[in-house]
Amino acid sequence: MGDKSGIEWTDATWNCIYGCSRVSPGCEHCYAERMTRRLARGSALTILTSKGVRWSNKIDLAPERLDQPIRWQRPRMIFVNSLSDVWHKDVPNEYIAAMFGIMAATPRHTFQILTKRAARLPDWFGWLGNRPLTECYRAAMKYVPKVADLIDPSVTWPLKNVWIGVSVEDQKRAEDRLPYLEEIPAAVRFVSAEPLLGPLDFADALFGWADTIDWVIVGGESGPGSRPMERAWAESIRDQCLDGMVPFFMKQWGQYDENGQRAKSKKDTGCLIDGVDYKQYPRVA
Ligand code: SF4
Repeated sequence: MGDKSGIEWTDATWNCIYGCSRVSPGCEHCYAERMTRRLARGSALTILTSKGVRWSNKIDLAPERLDQPIRWQRPRMIFVNSLSDVWHKDVPNEYIAAMFGIMAATPRHTFQILTKRAARLPDWFGWLGNRPLTECYRAAMKYVPKVADLIDPSVTWPLKNVWIGVSVEDQKRAEDRLPYLEEIPAAVRFVSAEPLLGPLDFADALFGWADTIDWVIVGGESGPGSRPMERAWAESIRDQCLDGMVPFFMKQWGQYDENGQRAKSKKDTGCLIDGVDYKQYPRVA
């Protein structure tokens, strides 16, 4: 499990943390919550309520899956933890360091990590101290000893193959979360505005935003109970990205098309804006 991904902007998913808890309106129809329920570990990590499946707010680490990227020989873009949030408060600092150690040991891959817990990002990078790469390798070797044989002296910090992104669904969440991206060392910093639930003005959220943000993804919500993304919100983000020369990736309209009509499936609404398919990637890619 985990190799192929249905997510348009990546090739594969690597899940080594399971479980989460809701933090903001973007979590309202959390896909991971429903997916996790179907897994063997789902009965401990989720509960069935009168409103449907909900997280039990427990976290389950899966260190036996840490070596998966090492076993993948062909280079690929890997979305890290599609079923959790790496910087959830119950994920230990050492475990996140172990994940970064694995990513350092596999520079052939590109890793994309998204979080809604942006406030923890600078804390975690600060916790790593002044020898971050050594700390990450050491943490990884506790679980995967063969990392010792994969250390490449040409790999430096911050890791060139790790993109760190923040999920935002509206202006408030953009203003709360985006400034933390500025505080961390990352080769690529990105924003995923999915599900987009309101208009976004990046300049109001982060002064000089286009100098910090390397990539913007936009997507409407899909699935049961999904909420519409207005055409003007997506167009405005597209225009802000064009003005700022920031690569823009339009993932999907979601359950509602660009005219606000609900469709049977997100496949029916597609991803075109004014007939154009925006599938740009950060320049390092
Ligand atoms: S942070 Fe992500 S995985 Fe966690 S509840 Fe929210 S949407 Fe789901």
